[in-house]
Amino acid sequence: MTIGILGGGQLGYMLALAGYPLDFHFRFLDPSPQAPVGRIAPRVTAEYSDFDALDKFAHGLALVTYEFENVPVEAVRHLAQRLPVYPPPQALEAAQDRLNEKSLFQKLGIPTTEFAVVDSIADLDAAVRTLGLPCVLKTRQLGYDGKGQWLLRTREDLENLPRALPARPLILEKFVAFRRELSILAVRGRSGETAFYPLVENHHRRGILRLSLAPSPRLSEALQREAEDASRRILQALDYVGVLAVELFECDGHLLANEIAPRVHNSGHWTIEGAVASQFENHLRAVSGLPLGETRALGHCAMLNLIGEAPDPAELLAVPDVHLHLYGKSPRPGRKVGHVTVRAESVGQLAARLKRLPSFFQRDEFCLSPTPLYSSK
Ligand code: AMP
Repeated sequence: MTIGILGGGQLGYMLALAGYPLDFHFRFLDPSPQAPVGRIAPRVTAEYSDFDALDKFAHGLALVTYEFENVPVEAVRHLAQRLPVYPPPQALEAAQDRLNEKSLFQKLGIPTTEFAVVDSIADLDAAVRTLGLPCVLKTRQLGYDGKGQWLLRTREDLENLPRALPARPLILEKFVAFRRELSILAVRGRSGETAFYPLVENHHRRGILRLSLAPSPRLSEALQREAEDASRRILQALDYVGVLAVELFECDGHLLANEIAPRVHNSGHWTIEGAVASQFENHLRAVSGLPLGETRALGHCAMLNLIGEAPDPAELLAVPDVHLHLYGKSPRPGRKVGHVTVRAESVGQLAARLKRLPSFFQRDEFCLSPTPLYSSK
């Protein structure tokens, strides 16, 4: 069976690596001739909006999925007329616009950040009066890794905004003084079967994910159930097939939904070594109609993103149960070039292994210190 994947970045790369043992073949479509998957699978270089190229790409494929959430919905709808496309187009539509996303949460009774739609300066003034400062102004579409966001702490920040607001639809969110950021990876098969990975705790620097701890420290059954209930409602409402990531804020012991990603997710990379079946394998099992694999964690993991540069592999791999993934991308500031997963049998062993990592990882941006990782606070 050949599976078509829209997007040829590291997520597609890891999907293919998980799919080859299941005898799947892959074909990718990506606008960039440098897309990393070129190393391991046939790749079509074309714009997502090029319907002729999409038709040629689709020829002979069993189904199409995507690893990039900003694929135009029209491209996915076009392909869906010819062959199965999972996750379904309505999932992409919900995830691409923060207003659709928030409206979906509200419709499903899932607590989310308070927000207001902003289409003009007058709207912005009114929204700031209603929500109060601090708050976060975000573009509704095409925001990622903290791009397209302005934190407004004071009236002055508000006045310093570009006089003409970006000519794109915006949303204003109340600033959430969250205790921590969590995410859950959920998966639904073609038969409607669902499975959930344990909640993960995520740490960011300058809007980019740096560290995921999995399963999340201080994870109660109640919190896990709350996250599963919310994601199950989303899966069902969207008639979803595949892996879905739900990003959450923990506040006062409860969860607020921040956003969803209709694809495999960076905060799920730990599952390659740290869970019975990885998110990549489970996404492929789901879209191809196979039974889902077990989502149970095998011990404790820390996943560290490599942004813009990679460490010396020899020094790193001398630490036991450390796994290096390099994506074959040329290094550039701010670019995810790989990740490292450290696995251990216990929390204590994980903390000890993290301390043994080379000095490269002891910088502030990796979020490993000074906070004691698994403190009970
Ligand atoms: P997002 O693109 O919505 O995931 O936002 C990127 C990051 O900005 C999040 O991971 C949070 O750290 C922070 N953030 C986003 N929205 C809010 C909010 N309403 N209140 C506080 N922090 C936020």
